[in-house]
Amino acid sequence: MHDYLHRVALDWHQTLEQILSLALKSGPRGLLVFDLDSTVFDNRPRQARILREFGHARHLAPLTQCQPWHFSSGWDLRGATNACGLAPAQSEEIYADLKAFWQERFFTSDYCRTDIEVVGAPRYLHALDYAKSRVIYVTGRHEGMREGTEACLERCRMPMPSHGGQVQLLMKPELMADDDAFKREAHEQLKSMGTVLAAFDNEPTHINDYAVKFENAVPVHLATDHSGRDVKLHPRCVSIPHFAY
Ligand SMILES: [Mg+2]
Repeated sequence: MHDYLHRVALDWHQTLEQILSLALKSGPRGLLVFDLDSTVFDNRPRQARILREFGHARHLAPLTQCQPWHFSSGWDLRGATNACGLAPAQSEEIYADLKAFWQERFFTSDYCRTDIEVVGAPRYLHALDYAKSRVIYVTGRHEGMREGTEACLERCRMPMPSHGGQVQLLMKPELMADDDAFKREAHEQLKSMGTVLAAFDNEPTHINDYAVKFENAVPVHLATDHSGRDVKLHPRCVSIPHFAY
């Protein structure tokens, strides 16, 4: 998988400080836009839970011990099953069955509750919220995951969305809707809500969109992981590893 960590500059945290001072100056017209997955949430505990359950269901003992760090080589389930101790041929053999098992669980409220925060995200989000600018979560998750997503935001102590409130959560209407198209529609909605000061996303395609469409906003790229498309980042994008500084 293409690794973007080399783009993280030594003074990366200054970008976060600059955005916070922009938020303090702008008040409620200022929008701070955050993607969820691999931006403020780490999904690896969810991934590991699914693999453990598959291990129990299919009597594959090594998978019943799966831990989040077995997903260090990316999102390919075969990388994780190999890391758990299956032989590559066996990982290949069970792959289709595992993928179907995963698909039924990964995009659900019940399973997304298992996520944990990207380090520093709760504190940084609250600092922006206290500055009275608006935190807007824009995610490719669908509405069917709203309940679990809100439960997870609460458990991780991140600012909570509320109907008509300062913090909002914009979700895809349905699971099968296209992620890229949804995010572009959400951009139009953002323009009607205020001025985007900064946007945060781990997906190069998505953060590039923000960089082009919101010329005065700071596009911040999370160099965590991504869907694997080999995309060159827009030169305006600033890469950061996490939110702890
Ligand atoms: Mg993401």
